[in-house]
Amino acid sequence: MKLIFEKSVPGRHCDLLGKCDVAAAELPQKYLRATPPELPELSEVDVSRHYTELNQHVHGVNCGFYPLGSCTMKYNPRVDEEMAALPGFTAVHPLAPEAHTRGCRAVLDTAAQYLCEISGMDAMTFQPAAGAHGEFTGVLLIKQYHDARGDTARRKIIVPDSAHGTNPATAAMCGFEVVNIPSAPDGCVDLDALKAALGEDTAGLMLTNPNTVGIFDENILEITKLVHEAGGLCYYDGANLNAVMGVVRPGDMGFDCIHMNLHKTFATPHGGGGPGAGAVGCKEFLKPYLPASALMDGAGKKQVRAFAGNFLVVVRALTYLMTLGCEGVPEAAKNAVLNANYLMQRVKGTFEPAFDRICMHEFVLDLSEYKKETGVSALDVAKSLIDYGMHPPTMYFPLIVHEALMLEPTETESKQTLDWAADVFRKLYALGKTDSETMHAAPHHAQIGRPDEVKAARNPIVRWYNDSETETVRGAGN
Ligand SMILES: *Cc1c(COP(=O)(O)O)cnc(C)c1O
Repeated sequence: MKLIFEKSVPGRHCDLLGKCDVAAAELPQKYLRATPPELPELSEVDVSRHYTELNQHVHGVNCGFYPLGSCTMKYNPRVDEEMAALPGFTAVHPLAPEAHTRGCRAVLDTAAQYLCEISGMDAMTFQPAAGAHGEFTGVLLIKQYHDARGDTARRKIIVPDSAHGTNPATAAMCGFEVVNIPSAPDGCVDLDALKAALGEDTAGLMLTNPNTVGIFDENILEITKLVHEAGGLCYYDGANLNAVMGVVRPGDMGFDCIHMNLHKTFATPHGGGGPGAGAVGCKEFLKPYLPASALMDGAGKKQVRAFAGNFLVVVRALTYLMTLGCEGVPEAAKNAVLNANYLMQRVKGTFEPAFDRICMHEFVLDLSEYKKETGVSALDVAKSLIDYGMHPPTMYFPLIVHEALMLEPTETESKQTLDWAADVFRKLYALGKTDSETMHAAPHHAQIGRPDEVKAARNPIVRWYNDSETETVRGAGN
């Protein structure tokens, strides 16, 4: 499809407003452009069609199945958007006097109260704008806690090798040394490896449970106890709370602080890059170190972001929680787990699960044997799914499984959709055995098939260049 600049026709425009009937104010010369901006010239219908066409080239939850593991691409009820669009929420100024923002304060306080209840924490801040930002905030709490006690020799954060990449990155950004510990063959924390890593230099442990292979670590109480006995604190990466919300609480598992991605579990559409919210909760003793907007008084004065963070994401989360209620929240979690197990069982016998046991909200397929046999990789299968109108699962993550495909169907999909998805996987399994070439070349019906992903990530071209500029950009190796 053409860029909007390429669709431009000189002189074409759109007359919506009547002629201006007041005298034009002259701008001082120094504020005027020397040359007019290069804007596309189009009619309203051209613009409307352009964006509709763009819309048709992306895959969202509203287009079809989107089992992107770890990302919880579930359907977000419309009512959450409606609440977030209320003028009383959208038009409020962050510096408005307290008397004008009591409703907004009530939203923040109530959401904090519910999320503390769900996570088993005592205080909460909504300042962080995303999961990784929440981790950064949470690990800084751990750092300040040790520093305030003069316990400054604690320089190491333990991270299992199945962790999300943001965990070691966060620990390093907070100035800690990262100690990676291997997982046991069952995908859980290797207790011996943990014991060996613990010591007087341990600041804490960062853990996701259920972990990134979709398994609930049954030794969790033992794990958090061991860390506490060594003098460290336990950080729960609750980016995805979909399997446990309303069922089991990280606070009861022994964790001291947590972040929750409101944009994953609690109804803010995501995938396009934000805005999100990484709500950070902590136990009472860490409360003094929470950023300034922390609710439930007595919090410190620090800030990690302006004002109360992405407020409208909190409005959506609160609406979601209020509409589900204390019965709907655990029901959603249980259905997420049920759907993942159902799909895993329906696919099994073709592509095999990396860990053949009951999973939580997601599971990982291991295609390494299949690839040896057929030459068809996890990437080839992922690309082939696009031709069926299915978004590919998360690929090549977690790193401990080679040729991994990680599926998270979520609770908002019907049995029919899961059956259809399982059939697609089974068909592709058979196709790879007879016609691997077709799969190496997939997708066959997408706008963009196989971009150079490294180049797209490292040197993205995110703006339009005119002809002469394009030459300069291309020439520079971009
Ligand atoms: C998504 C995710 C993150 C990062 O969250 P962002 O909002 O993308 O920064 C961290 N940990 C886990 C386990 C996740 O699934």
